[in-house]
Amino acid sequence: MSINQSGWRPEMGNSGNGCGGPATYTGNRALMLEEPLLFEIGKLSNTGLDIEEVKAPASRLGGLERKADIGLPGLSEPETVRHYTRLSRQNYAIDLGLFPLGSCTMKHNPRLNERVARMPGFADIHPLQPVDTVQGALEVIHQLAHWLVTLTGMHSVAMSPKAGAHGELCGILAIRAALEARGDTRSVILVPESAHGTNPATAAFAGYKVENIPATKDGRVDLAALQERLGPDVAAVMITNPNTCGLFERDMKAISDAVHAAGALVYCDGANFNAIVGRVRPGDLGVDAMHINLHKTFSTPHGGGGPGSGPVVFSEALTSFAPLPFVEKTADGFALVEEETAGEHHARSFGRMVAFHGQMGMFTRALAYILSHGADGLKQVAEDAVLNANYILRSLEDVLDAPFAASGPCMHEAIFSDAGLAEGFTTLDIAKALIDEGYHPMTMYFPLVVHGAMLVEPTETESKDTLDQFIGALRSVAERAKAGDEALKGAPYYAPRRRLDETQAARKPVLVWNEPQQAEAAE
Ligand SMILES: *Cc1c(COP(=O)(O)O)cnc(C)c1O
Repeated sequence: MSINQSGWRPEMGNSGNGCGGPATYTGNRALMLEEPLLFEIGKLSNTGLDIEEVKAPASRLGGLERKADIGLPGLSEPETVRHYTRLSRQNYAIDLGLFPLGSCTMKHNPRLNERVARMPGFADIHPLQPVDTVQGALEVIHQLAHWLVTLTGMHSVAMSPKAGAHGELCGILAIRAALEARGDTRSVILVPESAHGTNPATAAFAGYKVENIPATKDGRVDLAALQERLGPDVAAVMITNPNTCGLFERDMKAISDAVHAAGALVYCDGANFNAIVGRVRPGDLGVDAMHINLHKTFSTPHGGGGPGSGPVVFSEALTSFAPLPFVEKTADGFALVEEETAGEHHARSFGRMVAFHGQMGMFTRALAYILSHGADGLKQVAEDAVLNANYILRSLEDVLDAPFAASGPCMHEAIFSDAGLAEGFTTLDIAKALIDEGYHPMTMYFPLVVHGAMLVEPTETESKDTLDQFIGALRSVAERAKAGDEALKGAPYYAPRRRLDETQAARKPVLVWNEPQQAEAAE
């Protein structure tokens, strides 16, 4: 069997060539290269290293030594580098173009942050190093904690959670600890219908029953329905503000007051803090715990680009239940407060979220972002994020149904629905066609309260020219979907793969690679 330079074999066919152009021998389309699996291009008998055969010493494994090859594909270094570089070119990235994924805040990651994060004093340290050798890193955590508490108007912050969802769990565990400390066994958490899936998942994971709070017609929490439901069995509400319809919950203070009067606590999903940073302090709205996605609001690379980080800010009522460890400023520098050093003051801490101290690389980037923007710059982040989203909303509301457009401006994301598309055309068709236009699609079919939702979040880092080009592309696709252009149903035409069977992929994922001969024999 022959493997050519790109790893293509005749039986793989020219799967990507359904776009009308002539089939190519390699299956490549110009500079878009086909790339099989590592196991398909590597030979089990090869090695990428040139080493002499060693004379095996006598085995002392008592007959338990490996009898067969472990089946790792062998490739040379250039073959390996090309494999991963080719795969990386099949990916979309914020460094390639606008990434309108609603709720995910895919903003530009300033290169200054990267420079700071790579400084050896931050990048090359170990979490078990003696504390007096990492004073600078601890000071970064301490300073970032200070600014997060200041920006949110809260009382304290737990820095260690490693993503938004992890932060939600941290907040709900603190709420549970506070309730248990007063002998309270409340068992229900209320979550709005429009919530991100992580909210009900967190509440259920922490052992609570989840009940929905309905939304009003204008896309906000129904305060009257919430008040009606509050009672001695309700432990907390989890509210996203601005919410996932891109709207500010104007009744937030009234909601918090009602929840507190009923003896429950307020969790705020702060994933959308980007829209209000520098303008609104959640602490002033009666919030008891809120996670901040550093990777969204404070521009640390995420998704395929890097890990998240989800510090949780707490009100005074929850502070003593917060997890360890945290950094404290003492007379002789910065100290880590751990179980052994916590003392009575933190005896009520519910425990730990992680083994060490959190995502150091994200802390340095987020602090660099905060300090380089300054107070005025952060306020402008929120204002420009909202301006850009409204520009998109108003530029497209004549061609796409915008269910909440009549109730005023949106916050940092614009929401559209599939109402008005031609019979048989869906949000999926629009998303797939956007891929041909060179864009990662917007968030679709979320939030669930909007039928066929398309949630577009441009962020503040896009220029008007970039927004205009995106608006033009979405407008053209939307017009085709309204006119019933059948060609849309075949999109994407220019992607490495066309439409996949997503249901099959989710229900019957193929997670094991078998050698083709074996796979054929099994059939
Ligand atoms: C992103 C997001 C989350 C989850 O955050 P992760 O960091 O992805 O775990 C929760 N809620 C909302 C509204 C979000 O947008």
